[in-house]
Amino acid sequence: MICDRCEQLMRPDEAEQIYIDAASGAGGTVNVHRMLCARPRTHPQSHPQHPAR
Ligand SMILES: [Zn+2]
Repeated sequence: MICDRCEQLMRPDEAEQIYIDAASGAGGTVNVHRMLCARPRTHPQSHPQHPAR
């Protein structure tokens, strides 16, 4: 299965189901790693780097 947090493959024994109570009413369960995992880099510009000169 795929982790909904880091989008990496994980084995069933590594997974943990978490219930998300969304304010919009579209709540549900997600499968994430039991241990904390890193989120995917969705904002690569969060750490601006000086361009090489
Ligand atoms: Zn994960």
